[in-house]
Amino acid sequence: MEDKVIITAAITGSIPSKKNNPNIPYTPQEIAEEAYKSYLAGASVIHLHARNPETGVPISGKESVPIFKEYLKLIKEKCDIICQITTGGGATTINGIEQLDRIKPVIECKPEMASLNTGSLNFGSKIFPNPPELIETFAKIMQDLNIKPELEVYELGHIESAKKLIIEKHYLNSPPQFSLVLGTAGGVPATPKNLLIMKEALPVNCTWQVIAIGKHQIPLGTMGIIMGGNVRVGFEDNVYLEKGVLANSNSELVGKIARIIRELGKKVADVSDAREILSLKK
Ligand code: ZN
Repeated sequence: MEDKVIITAAITGSIPSKKNNPNIPYTPQEIAEEAYKSYLAGASVIHLHARNPETGVPISGKESVPIFKEYLKLIKEKCDIICQITTGGGATTINGIEQLDRIKPVIECKPEMASLNTGSLNFGSKIFPNPPELIETFAKIMQDLNIKPELEVYELGHIESAKKLIIEKHYLNSPPQFSLVLGTAGGVPATPKNLLIMKEALPVNCTWQVIAIGKHQIPLGTMGIIMGGNVRVGFEDNVYLEKGVLANSNSELVGKIARIIRELGKKVADVSDAREILSLKK
């Protein structure tokens, strides 16, 4: 499996809007179509946030449950891609919802995977609170439901928190999957050196991917692939196909990184490869 690379497509997120790129999907139908096109282009995991279908405003907590259910139903009608739901809460609503509410869609929808932030940080002008007790609670709930967490780390301290609060307490049913997130406002800057340092801090027995924001998405994603990691692309993190050119679809970004993977002599993991690499039971 060493030469197979998992592409995750983060197709909508909570921050970019149609003002940034008119092709960002808001409605369940648009979400499902983007997921399917990304799947056809080589993605094997879809990372999802809930949006108000008309305004695109991000929705978190229990209000988002019916929206996520609709997304999953429509996506599964089209393809068997691995679906991952966020528990991040959405940057614009972070301070407005009860923190425990963030896990409600995961409990109700039982996706194969869910994101799990392992530390707090400043996020733009807001605070993104992930206190230790909340991290452990989310990890325990996911373990009980056999939902694979993806450990989202924005700096080195978050990796140490993941080790102490989750891995050493045996809240995982399989080797951890990390996202090394570089370039958020408040997290580690997106540089090759920082990626090297974060990779070195990971536990030995894990899988990982690079999430690099904006113009760094493809270059640092490529560096991660060369280093043996997986990669996430998509509108959540970057809306441009190249400098000054908006992507028409998430699938264009998936297609671009898939070409790079093949040019590097590696293979794009299909959904069944990804389930094996991530130790997902199906
Ligand atoms: Zn997300």
